Amino acid sequence: MKQTLTKQIDNWTTRLVLYPGDPVELLARKKVYLLGVVSVLVMVMFLTLLTWQLQLPILTRYGLALLVYFSISFTLQLILKKGLAWFIFANCSYSILLTFGVILQLGGIPNSGGLIFVGLVSVIYAMIYPSSRLLIWCFSLYVITLILEGLLHSYLTPPVEMTPDKNLLLFVLNSLWLSGTILLVILYVFAKETQIAKLKADRLLEMDQLKSRMFTNISHEFRTPLTLISGMAELIRENPNQKLQERSDVILRNANRVLRLVDQMLNLSRIEADAMPLQPVQSNIISFLRYVAGSFKGLSEHRKVKLHFLPDQPELVIDFDPEKLEELVGNLLSNALKYTLAGGDVYFSIHTTYLPKTESTIPEEQLLIKVRDTGIGIPPEDLSHIFERFYRVENAKTHYEEGSGIGLTLVREYVKLMHGSIEVQSKPGTGSEFTITLPITRNAPIQEPAFSADPMDELAPTPELEWPAMQEADNHLPQLLIIEDNPDVVQYLRLVLEDKFHLRIAHNGEEGIRDALEHIPDLILSDVMMPVKDGYEVCRTLKKDFRTSHIPIVLLTARADTTSRITGLELGADAYLTKPFHKKELIVCLRNLFVQREKLRIKYGASNHEPLEPTHTAGPDEQFIQNARSILEKNYADEHFGIDELYQALGISRVQLHRKLIALTGQSSSHYIRSFRLEKARQMLTDPNKTISEIAYQTGFSDANYFSRVFALEFGQPPSNLRNVNAPGA
Ligand code: ADP
Repeated sequence: MKQTLTKQIDNWTTRLVLYPGDPVELLARKKVYLLGVVSVLVMVMFLTLLTWQLQLPILTRYGLALLVYFSISFTLQLILKKGLAWFIFANCSYSILLTFGVILQLGGIPNSGGLIFVGLVSVIYAMIYPSSRLLIWCFSLYVITLILEGLLHSYLTPPVEMTPDKNLLLFVLNSLWLSGTILLVILYVFAKETQIAKLKADRLLEMDQLKSRMFTNISHEFRTPLTLISGMAELIRENPNQKLQERSDVILRNANRVLRLVDQMLNLSRIEADAMPLQPVQSNIISFLRYVAGSFKGLSEHRKVKLHFLPDQPELVIDFDPEKLEELVGNLLSNALKYTLAGGDVYFSIHTTYLPKTESTIPEEQLLIKVRDTGIGIPPEDLSHIFERFYRVENAKTHYEEGSGIGLTLVREYVKLMHGSIEVQSKPGTGSEFTITLPITRNAPIQEPAFSADPMDELAPTPELEWPAMQEADNHLPQLLIIEDNPDVVQYLRLVLEDKFHLRIAHNGEEGIRDALEHIPDLILSDVMMPVKDGYEVCRTLKKDFRTSHIPIVLLTARADTTSRITGLELGADAYLTKPFHKKELIVCLRNLFVQREKLRIKYGASNHEPLEPTHTAGPDEQFIQNARSILEKNYADEHFGIDELYQALGISRVQLHRKLIALTGQSSSHYIRSFRLEKARQMLTDPNKTISEIAYQTGFSDANYFSRVFALEFGQPPSNLRNVNAPGA
């Protein structure tokens, strides 16, 4: 309650004194000044009433003069909201001089009822504004009046109405409120020091957050290209003659990506340090922007987003700085393409418009550059922040996209440099529209802009890097499904892994899930940040699905933080590799998982009857095997119990049973059931009282000959051999 009242008063005073653009500190001083004046007015009003009651006309007139003056000064300050130093200067000078005159009229310092302190308080009030000149002026004025009052004392006569009692009363009252004021000022100075310390701490914290935001974003941005550069360089070193052109292209493209980011950061600091002048040329801006839009053709095709270039006229010759305009528009276009899902549209339109100028009647010609997309949009709470340095909207839809959070900051700075303005309108789920308004001038030398050789080419995938087609199965190699959206990374992974695995490639999470469910690969390697569905979603879906829960999943990501790693592992990922990863690390990781899977096959195999983990700790795969085993345990003696009965008892389909058993044990359903029975039979052979035919019958084989044949196939020798071995005395 108390807090809200103080806050309300604070808001109210802020509204009263705030002049647009006031720094926080000046605002705080103005508020203190205002409160000071109000308290003076209240006190003076009270003392004036008192002196009127005490019939001391000199002091009543003095009080009224102060009231009138301070009321005017107060009102003026509220109207002007500026010139705090001048107000303090005038108020202090007026109070000191007026008080000096009244003390003389009252017959000098001893008879003035303590008015001498008024000058002192004025000096203290002057401290509200941090100017030593102002303070020295007020103090000197006060000291001079004090000396004069001392020197003139013997020439002065006190008025009769100022009796010693009234003098004492006023002296006590004046001393009281003046000491109160001094106390308040000291408290204010303390509070201000704390506030300044807090402001400093806040600023440091903000800088710290900015720095960590920068490091997180930048390291993400650097990881993928650096992984590719070092990986490809390693492959070249190992095999200098193989696919040299292709591999060095990947290195170059990714080195350019890193360079571009570094350039962006340098440009940003150069603009902020005012060290980046505009270098305009006068040329046809429409053809230049058409060329810039054209450079995004590859990227837009790759992302399956249509890019429409819509100028309202074929030619417009005006001043522009080609390099900066390309960077500016490039950032907007790449964002629009990046944050629009496949099938969406990006409209890049150019208009001219005339804005009526306020001072003159000549209308000002303006250029409007609009980039509108039908993408994911920006939540309203983030809209005011997106132009901040290193700010990125963090939500499920954007976090798969890598980015530095510099692009829009640079855009805003370029627009400022070009004396223009930028506006953004956006609705989550509908799309965003960025509108840049630039003044049109025609003063620069007429010149063709220097078109850069291949703008933004590192953003677009090269034609030979189109998505590789699904390969036909090669039965000798384990099948590995790679889910990755970056063609360079896919290419690198293919080079590293193609001789060790039969590869399948999916471009995003959704496609990956579909492929995994259809083909049940042996291993999955998935990127985390991907369009449509990310790696976490892949993990969550496939690990929950009975058909795919056994497939080891390796998550590959640029996110090195522990939280991301834990999220991945919690969702069931079997391993988590952070970019930049070493080629061998990846191969060893995949091989280990594959070997583990093989070991599990032996463990889950029908001939292994060792108990599995207790049910409460078992995963879906163990539970499945456990259920299958306990059903078979109850039914293996029944010769009519077969595949149909098993899948029905497990509550799944025949195909699901088959796929799952193949994946977990390497055996088909019929093979699994038969192996289970044969293992039981092998155990029974140790009982010398049972004949082989009896054993065959008791393990569900109606034909003893058939039993012996399959037994020999399974264990490499007929049951009679084992019977001999196990026979007593053998
Ligand atoms: P980034 O490198 O992350 O793209 P930017 O400074 O270019 O950095 O953009 C800042 C943030 O603004 C982005 O992270 C993104 O969340 C949001 N953003 C920018 N443009 C768009 C757009 N066209 N649609 C949706 N979100 C956008």
